[in-house]
Order: sequence, then C-alpha cells, then structure tokens
Amino acid sequence: MKGFAMLKIGEVGWIEKERPTCGPMDAICRPLAIAICTSDVHTVWEGAVGDRHNMILGHEGCAEVVEVGSMVKDFKPGDKVLVPAITPDWNSLEAQAGYSMHSGGMLAGWKFSNFKDGLDSEFFHVNDADGNLAHMPEDMSLEDACMLSDMVPTGFHGVELADIQFGDTVLVIGIGPVGLMSVAGARLRGASRILAVGTRPTCVEAAKFYGADEFISYKNGTIEDQVLAMTDGKGVDRVVVAGGGVQTFESAVKSLKPGGKIGNVNYLGSGDYITIPRVEWGVGMGHKQLQGGLMPGGRLRMEKLGALVSSGKLDVSKLSTHVFHGWEHIPEALQLMKDKPADLIKPVVILDNQP
Ligand code: NAD
Ligand code: ZN
Repeated sequence: MKGFAMLKIGEVGWIEKERPTCGPMDAICRPLAIAICTSDVHTVWEGAVGDRHNMILGHEGCAEVVEVGSMVKDFKPGDKVLVPAITPDWNSLEAQAGYSMHSGGMLAGWKFSNFKDGLDSEFFHVNDADGNLAHMPEDMSLEDACMLSDMVPTGFHGVELADIQFGDTVLVIGIGPVGLMSVAGARLRGASRILAVGTRPTCVEAAKFYGADEFISYKNGTIEDQVLAMTDGKGVDRVVVAGGGVQTFESAVKSLKPGGKIGNVNYLGSGDYITIPRVEWGVGMGHKQLQGGLMPGGRLRMEKLGALVSSGKLDVSKLSTHVFHGWEHIPEALQLMKDKPADLIKPVVILDNQP
C-alpha cells in the first residue's frame, strides 16, 4: 500500500509498505479525509518524537472500516468512523488509573505517526477498535469529522485541566485551532469573560465567533501586565495554555488569582525548565495549580464530542480554512502547515480519488 511518510528528520515522501494485519480486537480502516496538525510539523522538522524512518504520517482523520477482528462487537466493514488521535490500550493499568493517554508509558497512548504508521495511507490499523473508534454521525461533513480527532478533544482537555467553572474569567494563551477550541470549551463550561492572547486576524475573528470577549497581543508587552490592567489588578480565575514556549507559565502564574488553575495542552518543544515565579505563586502558599496533559482519546469522548457537533451546539466549520481534494495534495497541505500563511487555521485533504 501507498503512504505519505516521514523518511527521516526534515524529509518526507511517498513510500510503499505492507498493508497492516488485523488482530482479534483491531480494525483496519481506509481514510476518507485527513487533517494536518501542528504536531506533524514538530514531528518532521523539529524531530519532536525523535528520529523516525519511513513512518507514515497522520493522526487526524475519519475513515471507513474495511476489516475487523473476531472479537470486535460494534463495528463492521463499511462503517464510517471518527478516529481519535490518541488510541489507548484500555485494559492497561494506566487506563485503569484514569490516565489512558499514558497507557504503555508516558504519552504512549499517542500511537499514530509516533510509534506506528498513521492515517496518511491507503489503510491503517486501529488497536482496540471497540474502545477507540466511534460511529460518525450521518449528517457530519468529512472536514468536521477530522476536527474531532485532535483539535476539539485537545482544546477541551485544556478546559478540563483548568477546571473552568460557571462565571469564571478565563485567559486562553494561543488561539491556533487548539486554543480556539479551548475558547469554545470555556464558553460551553459557562465562563463569564474570556480573554484571548493572539493577533492573527483570521484567528481573532474565529476566536470572537467561539466566544472570546477581549484580546491581548503578546507582542505588546507582557501578558500578565495586560491581564492585570484589564481585571483591575485582580487577575483571572483560570488559564488555558495552547501556545507559546516555556516562558508562558511565568505569565500564566502572574495572571492568576490565588486559588486559580492553569491547564496546559501546549507541546513544549525547547527549553529545559519552566519557571514558576516565587512571589506570585504566593511564596509557595498561593493555591495556584498547574496541570499539563495529553488528551485522553477513546470512543466515549469521540461519541460525546461528535454529538455536540451534530446537535449544532458546537460549530467546528471555522477551523477547516483550506480544503483540498485528492491524495496528491497531502504534501502541499503539510507544507502549508509548516509555512503557516496568515489565513490558515487547518488544512484538510478529502481523499476522494485513488491513492
Ligand atoms: P498553533 O501553532 O496553530 O497555535 C499556537 C498559537 O500560539 C499560534 O497562533 C502562535 O502564534 C501562538 N503563540 C506563539 N507564541 C505565543 C505566546 N508567547 N503567547 C501566546 N500565543 C503564542 O498550534 P495548535 O495546532 O493550535 O496547537 C497548539 C499546541 O498544542 C501545539 O504545541 C501542539 O503541538 C499542541 N498539541 C497538543 C496536544 C495534546 O494532546 N496535548 C494535541 C494536539 C496539539
Ligand atoms: Zn493533531
């Protein structure tokens, strides 16, 4: 079968590989559409997950099931499915402890385009199909389905980690597609005021649509100075971090009220330490919490988030700004994500021809 792969750090191309085999609990799927992720850029050009050779890329997409193992109960060939970027082993001890995303080791629930071949391929393998696939709602567009793999669940996980409550004032740092979904999630969770850090006009427009009330530019001085000025010196109740580098946490702690919580879903690609400022952390006694996490993955979450989209309560259509048709556009879509033109949020490729 044909797949679009990372050949080594900094190099991509089409390769031929054996079609994966299906274990008793697994499924083999054929992608219907895929989306490109910022993480693909980190993986290929920054070597974020380490060097990989001839590893097929892609962890966001929707698919048709072509084969299932003998123990799979709820899926059959021909079913259209949502595919989470994170596909844990649900009978692992880590999953039983509530940390499915770390099943098999830290971050090891992230398998596609990390430990095994991903979705940018004629066929791909899904472990624990009953636990990881979700039926695609009938009325859902392929573009919207792709946003459910990673952008919605990750943005929402930032909201969960920050533990946003009714009436909270929330700061969202970074309004790429993940941060935009954190804005949407904060609104759904009942935030009364959402401040968003970001300047690209396309993202600012989308953030307004999803519920951001006011904007901060990290290019106009420190985030904390602007937040404190906007909140009469009090700060915010919650912070979701979906962009920036290791220095962002200093700003997040300084922007937070005592008792506040920070949820991070941003990938920290460089720097050895994050800094927690001693004084603003209440000299150790400020009850300011920080949690960072990979999204949990799995079927239940996909079904619930899918229902949120198909019920019309969450409109993800603003995210797919660049839609291509045909396999041959996958390299172009990846390059687009690397170049990040100002009007880009997410590139999606509809695979409506032969690979
Ligand atoms: P993105 O690059 O499109 O968005 C990040 C945004 O942050 C950009 O718009 C950028 O301009 C902005 N930014 C840069 N520096 C900033 C600063 N100092 N302060 C505020 N904003 C700043 O990426 P994305 O696709 O939205 O993903 C966000 C992050 O989440 C990435 O690091 C990605 O790898 C990570 N991610 C994590 C998970 C997870 O499960 N935890 C899953 C998917 C993606
Ligand atoms: Zn992704």
